[in-house]
Amino acid sequence: MTEMYANQTVVVTGTAGFVGSHLTDGLLANGARVIGVDNFLTGRASNLEHLKENPNFTFIESDVTLPTINYLTDQPKIDAIFHLASPASPPRYQEHPVETYLVNSYATHQLLQYIKNVHPRAKFIFASTSEVYGEPHEHPQKEGYWGNVNPNGVRSCYDEAKRLGETICGVHQRDFNLDVRIMRIFNTYGPRMDPRDGRVIPQFITQALAHQPYTIYGDGSQTRSYCYVNDLVDGILKFGSMLGLSGITVNLGNPGEYAVKQTAEIIHQLVHPNTQPEFEFRTLPGDDPTRRQPDITLAIDKLGWQPTIDFRTGIKHTLEYFQELATY
Ligand code: NAD
Ligand code: UDP
Repeated sequence: MTEMYANQTVVVTGTAGFVGSHLTDGLLANGARVIGVDNFLTGRASNLEHLKENPNFTFIESDVTLPTINYLTDQPKIDAIFHLASPASPPRYQEHPVETYLVNSYATHQLLQYIKNVHPRAKFIFASTSEVYGEPHEHPQKEGYWGNVNPNGVRSCYDEAKRLGETICGVHQRDFNLDVRIMRIFNTYGPRMDPRDGRVIPQFITQALAHQPYTIYGDGSQTRSYCYVNDLVDGILKFGSMLGLSGITVNLGNPGEYAVKQTAEIIHQLVHPNTQPEFEFRTLPGDDPTRRQPDITLAIDKLGWQPTIDFRTGIKHTLEYFQELATY
């Protein structure tokens, strides 16, 4: 296979996080020299442990919301910045609302200004989210849909900050002629998710392994579409490397759609076959979207990408990781 990032120097913010660490691996496997930046707000050093001796990986511990980009100033060459730093789990971003809106807005501005002033030919790839669609009036969600988001609700420190991040990207692409690309990532799961981060897949896997009832918020009829992380990273690598995609916003996700209660039932079946799951119903958190499914026609057309790993297979791989963690 040709190396998509041969001889390139690439910065990944959020490198110690779940997606960031897998993306870092994917970039290294494709010939890049990677500079990973993280402040461990929600990430973990263990996600990078295997890269300690890798001469092509440099880790910089820094907050990317600092007013100056000191941590990158000695880099003579940067070909791309993937900006993934941000809490992504609702309980975590609600615990850190200021950090969340700053890293998606101000840090996006700072990094783009840095590119504009120092490396104007570098690409900037922003990790946006399906949350920009809010409580959608269109289903599945296409990139052209503007969304239905509460500007001042419990989720807005995240979803409105991502929307402002997209605005900042658009300004730098249109007005300053930079190569800026936006990916709207839908719910992604897999190994290296923090078992305590509160998102639905780690919650249900942890509960299954501990023989606890599944905590279902609301009646569990709300839906999500889950993408296995390796599939997502393949899409990100293509999106970041192909020519002629400046100014493009693309959905990256798996269209397979499951109700939340059904999600618990599938995980239960895989862990404890032939037994019945127990549920503990809790109040649905504010502004929790009732439906979420990506339309990935654009990704198929522009990138020749679509997910290949079905939900049960992806969950089996994820289970193996959580089982290994539980043995420590
Ligand atoms: P994560 O919480 O596992 O990783 C985020 C990383 O960013 C962590 O390592 C954290 O320490 C780091 N970080 C946060 N603020 C920082 C700061 N100011 N300076 C430096 N580092 C900082 O989350 P994830 O699931 O890996 O998500 C990665 C990105 O993808 C996020 O931008 C998220 O919004 C986006 N995304 C993820 C999903 C998903 O399902 N995983 C869905 C949509 C969008
Ligand atoms: N959820 C749930 N029980 C849990 C954790 C989450 O019912 O223990 C629900 C949550 O209310 C939401 C869905 O699962 O409807 C996905 O939640 P997650 O936090 O993973 O991501 P979101 O897509 O809401 O950002």
